Amino acid sequence: MGFFDAPELNHHEQVVFGYDEETGLKAIIAIHNTSLGPALGGCRVWNYESEDEALRDVLRLSEGMTYKSALAGLNLGGGKSVILGNVQELGNEAAFRAFGRLVDSLGGRYVTAEDVNTSPQMMEWVYEETDYVAGLSPELGGSGDPSPFTAWGTFVGIKSAANKAWGSDDLEGKTVAVQGLGHVGMYLVEHLSKAGAKILVTDIKENRVREMLKFKNVSAIAPDDIYDAEMDVFAPCALGSVVNDKTIDRLKCQVIAGAANNVLSDYDKHGKILLEKGILYAPDYAINAGGVINVYGEFEGYNEKRSYDRVNHIYAILQDIFDRSAQENIPTMDAADILAEERIKKIGRLKQMRRSGKRLFSKI
Ligand code: NAD
Repeated sequence: MGFFDAPELNHHEQVVFGYDEETGLKAIIAIHNTSLGPALGGCRVWNYESEDEALRDVLRLSEGMTYKSALAGLNLGGGKSVILGNVQELGNEAAFRAFGRLVDSLGGRYVTAEDVNTSPQMMEWVYEETDYVAGLSPELGGSGDPSPFTAWGTFVGIKSAANKAWGSDDLEGKTVAVQGLGHVGMYLVEHLSKAGAKILVTDIKENRVREMLKFKNVSAIAPDDIYDAEMDVFAPCALGSVVNDKTIDRLKCQVIAGAANNVLSDYDKHGKILLEKGILYAPDYAINAGGVINVYGEFEGYNEKRSYDRVNHIYAILQDIFDRSAQENIPTMDAADILAEERIKKIGRLKQMRRSGKRLFSKI
């Protein structure tokens, strides 16, 4: 594939390839769009089958970040980076400092953070070389673990979906099935339990399931049985692609709302099927934005309370998405994309005018 032919090269502003001979670091940074602000997005380490695959992945992920931050109302653009190779070989100080220098060379157009296979320690090494790293530990002035914020946003999002589906966001007596009890799922179960929901939980790790049984109204279900369970809300918080050709007809819920990324295995096809079935789907990148919303606070001087206040906006953002989807009879993912694009256009234009020194209104 020629580089400029990549179908994922969808209006990307800049793609940077970095190589450091000494450490063997091969990294790609993709900046999709900076209309609203610096391009924020994590750095993942992955042993890709080919360089093409790595390029496609980073382009797709950075575009996703543009939409996610725009929809969440943040003044951030979208970017992402990938380090190609094995984390056992590359997860060392020298390689990550080399990566830090690459990030620094962009002068703040791209801000990196933790992602799949990168750790707080690795980000501290990056921080030795550049200020353009977010989500560091509170000891270093960062906002720390984003998961509690993602979980709270997911809880708020489930309430918002309940309001649309049943005319009330009271979860008392509603059955919510939570798939995956990791960093996000475990906090979500606690919030749901306090709200009086009946919760079905599953995880491939049995100790995680046992741990959750201490909360009120929680019962366990086997990992594969979750798709057939009698439930009002399905909350995927483990893996992507769990709504697919094999599972979609098994789901008896009225709402799908969870933290996992890429829940629909085929965004267009399954989005349309859910719309036809009358199952309300809370788009993944809208409902799971709590983490990035929290990190955004670092750009202004971090304040935990302000982060939670902002995460609460996920409720209203989802209402807008659901209303738009109903008005235009389009899948909720499409409605989310439209709302994100509208904000980039509107606010991006204002920022551009400010940068170029043009006045918004002429003096009378
Ligand atoms: P995690 O790795 O801590 O937890 C995932 C859990 O899912 C683990 O306990 C794992 O055992 C379980 N699991 C894996 N396969 C399963 C299966 N087939 N059935 C049931 N359980 C299974 O991850 P996390 O940080 O809690 O994130 C959960 C999801 O939310 C991921 O898709 C992640 O991309 C997404 N997300 C997380 C954040 C965040 O702030 N952590 C932000 C945005 C999106």
